[in-house]
Amino acid sequence: MLTKTINKTALTLLQGNIVEVEAEAIVNAANSGLTGGGGVDGAIHRAAGPALKQECQRIGGCPTGSAVATSAGYMRARYIFHAVGPVYGHHPNPEALLKSAYQACFALAKQYHVKSIAFPSLSTGAYRYPLPEAALIALRTTIEQLQQPTSLEHVQFVLFDQRAYAIFERTLHNLLQP
Ligand code: ADP
Repeated sequence: MLTKTINKTALTLLQGNIVEVEAEAIVNAANSGLTGGGGVDGAIHRAAGPALKQECQRIGGCPTGSAVATSAGYMRARYIFHAVGPVYGHHPNPEALLKSAYQACFALAKQYHVKSIAFPSLSTGAYRYPLPEAALIALRTTIEQLQQPTSLEHVQFVLFDQRAYAIFERTLHNLLQP
């Protein structure tokens, strides 16, 4: 685990399962139909229970590069922010879409006055975004956001495996190099 302070907000990287992490908002790596799936999406839907699926069905969908908020069912979080990252090799301009998916989550955090948020590494599983590039976009966008006024006191990135954790750690270290 690694924690750095950006402005007044703690930014933590940790290796683990996002459904076990304590945060007011948990970010889901959703698909544009909000239909649930494998990876993070499957884990969150299993943890949250059937009410989440119904709420997602009512919303109906979310464009790539954007995010929508729902409640969190059985999970301890207050909100799930369903962010839809690009499918690498399918969507044109994946960098802009991945960045805007993260930005959309920060906009929701502001709208709901959220103090703590946990992100997975969006698009880097089934959507095949190369991890080093995705980590750079995720962390650069986060640092940019935390340099503006924010309700957030704690931002966590929950990396599922050792390789993802190591890449995020190296990327954050490089970005914060004076
Ligand atoms: P996407 O479809 O956006 O690529 P995935 O859920 O397939 O989303 O994968 C996104 C990233 O989340 C991958 O790096 C994957 O290893 C990781 N991941 C999978 N399950 C979990 C989990 N329970 N908690 C945190 N990260 C996870």
